[in-house]
Amino acid sequence: MPLCYILPVANQSNNRPVLRFAPSPTGHLHLGHALSAFENERWAAATGGRLLLRIEDIDTTRCRPEFVAALLEDLAWLDLSFEPWPRRQSEHFDLYREALDRLAGMGLLYRSYASRTEIAAAIDRADHPRDPGITRDPDGTPLYPRAALAAADDPAKRGPTEPFAFRLDMTAALAKAAVLVPPLFWREQASPQEAGFEAIPAAPERWGDVVLARKEFPASYHLAVVVDDALQGITHVVRGRDLYHATGLHRLLQTLLGLPEPIYHHHGLILGPDGEKLSKSARSTSLRVLRADGVTPAQIRGMAGIV
Ligand code: GLU
Repeated sequence: MPLCYILPVANQSNNRPVLRFAPSPTGHLHLGHALSAFENERWAAATGGRLLLRIEDIDTTRCRPEFVAALLEDLAWLDLSFEPWPRRQSEHFDLYREALDRLAGMGLLYRSYASRTEIAAAIDRADHPRDPGITRDPDGTPLYPRAALAAADDPAKRGPTEPFAFRLDMTAALAKAAVLVPPLFWREQASPQEAGFEAIPAAPERWGDVVLARKEFPASYHLAVVVDDALQGITHVVRGRDLYHATGLHRLLQTLLGLPEPIYHHHGLILGPDGEKLSKSARSTSLRVLRADGVTPAQIRGMAGIV
């Protein structure tokens, strides 16, 4: 279904705010997920908004059905309710393909065949002490060294069946976006009670040539999230601060695809004893483990800082 048919639907919500909690079923939910779900519940209650659940399961190499079943059970145990029915991203690859085709039609994508080993080697070469070094994205990952991999990514040198990813040509995308709407910001709202926003400069160039369709499956988080936020008519994206800088990239994609702009709120994260954000592999903060230890849903709210 073309995106242009989706957009009018996305805006029909009787003017009520629409929020979503969007976990990825790559493991069991932990306290950090509980916090994010509670924050969405709080914003929905304060704004009279609708609360949706989206299962972000495009990564078919890591997501598992038993984690979907477990997260639904955990959310029900926490007494969190969402409008039926949860949207499952794995059922909508055709829509992400459509968005991808639009970006390709604008000349903003290129094929990337390079393997992890080839990429790592190119980065190592560029990081030689005599060189200025490689720039890193806000998550600390080195930016894709496109020029150094020009030969590796040359389709003429690759067989017709060799898998490739699609990357965004950031330079071309920025040029295109500048024509559309300069300058690019997102609106960050501090609390549901506060009407004002802070305009945050998007700075999507910090992400370099990001992958928009993986070799293993034809989408990426960044692509699917902007398509689904538009399709589901999400007006307020309430999520953890770990995705703060990614929002700049999402604004760029929304602009290029002509998608509506939600308001954003990035809440604080629960950190582990090591000062890092919680991980799905850490058993101590898993909601299942806490429940088995006799912790109640009310105590989980307290542990997540929600009272
Ligand atoms: N699926 C993402 C996660 O579990 C959240 C994405 C979002 O809220 O935009 O971290």
